Amino acid sequence: MIKTADVVIIGGGISGCAIAYNLLKKGVRDIVVIEKAYLASGATGRCGAGIRQQWGTEMNCRISKLSSDFFEHANEELAYEGDIEFKQGGYLIVSSTEKEHEQFKKNVALQNSLGIQSKLLDLDEAKEIVPFLNTEGLISATFHQKDGHLNPFHTTQAFANAAKRLGAHIYTYTEVIDIIVEEGKIRGVKTNKGDISTNVVVNAAGGYSQLIGNMVGLDLPVYSERHQILVTEPVEPVLGPMVMSFSLNLYCQQVPHGSIIMGRGDEGEPRDLRITSGWHFLEEMTKTITKVLPPLKDVRLLRQWAGLYNMTPDRQPIYGPVDEVEGFYLAIGYSGHGFMFGPATGLLMAESILGEETTLPIDMLHLNRFKKGELIFEPSVV
Ligand code: FAD
Repeated sequence: MIKTADVVIIGGGISGCAIAYNLLKKGVRDIVVIEKAYLASGATGRCGAGIRQQWGTEMNCRISKLSSDFFEHANEELAYEGDIEFKQGGYLIVSSTEKEHEQFKKNVALQNSLGIQSKLLDLDEAKEIVPFLNTEGLISATFHQKDGHLNPFHTTQAFANAAKRLGAHIYTYTEVIDIIVEEGKIRGVKTNKGDISTNVVVNAAGGYSQLIGNMVGLDLPVYSERHQILVTEPVEPVLGPMVMSFSLNLYCQQVPHGSIIMGRGDEGEPRDLRITSGWHFLEEMTKTITKVLPPLKDVRLLRQWAGLYNMTPDRQPIYGPVDEVEGFYLAIGYSGHGFMFGPATGLLMAESILGEETTLPIDMLHLNRFKKGELIFEPSVV
């Protein structure tokens, strides 16, 4: 393990690996990524890996568009020897309340104004896209063809391999146990395998970001919440796009090898670091999805698992430095959509750390927005 680094990044998920790659690409040397298990062992490897540009706040639309444009040529940009498997089958998002339908009109107007070619559809048009959609109880839908799905393990590995080729030091099965702060400035990290001196630490620890904040004396305004997900046996191609509903709290998508992945956000999920699986999820998930997509009742389930959402009060991430500790940066609080933000996270965080003008204006995602009470709420989340 090296003894001194320019930047130490805590967390080997999509965020940590993308930040490392972008810093190295900009010429910074001695970048360390520390991961307590294996790469993508956190939320990244447990997620639905859905990619959408259909958001309800300008910031989330712009971050996801920047990332999605990158994913379209990521295999080449990252010179990846595998395939990140970017399938752009679209997202069909259905509304089932008048309030939601009204929100969809606003969302589509916002998205179109930012160059995202989403459309508001009536139910006949929605059925043309997913013929076996049960439209009973639904009002309308929105659709964007460029949304889709990626392989989260390959995508993380692609960033990690590219970072390693540029000289990154990636230490897996290594845990940060403390952060050294002197006179309000970052001075290093302590790990279970030795210490590293540095003036810059990035907290990209996903569901564990609150614990990392505690190490520098901060009580970050985030909490972790279990979210569950399941996968079916592989079947013939039946479902092109992701089908999603915010009011029914569910999403469902067929991945390239034929399995169907689905998840939902249950009320009353534990707000701690538990990632056990529960029967309640299985029952509610299968009940609601077979109502919306009835033929799925004949498909067998293979496996269910869970991961942590790292939630912020406004459902938007926290990016950038903190005022309280010099050299401490945050890339946390994705509230269930941080995988699709990976490329933008990497670029914007690298720019922020280097004091460059950021490609998107991320001041509004600074930690101090919570103190100032300047919150813009993202309405379109599961
Ligand atoms: P993580 O992937 O959680 O990585 C953080 C890493 O930090 C972990 O690997 C952890 O082991 C490591 N770590 C923590 N503490 C320490 C320490 N002390 N020392 C060393 N290492 C440490 N997002 C989407 O965009 N699309 C989706 O469809 C989607 N679906 C989801 C479905 C589920 C069920 C879940 C749980 C999440 C979903 N998300 C989705 C959210 C997405 O997974 C996360 O926002 C994203 O993966 C966050 O990436 P990250 O790299 O910031 O964090």
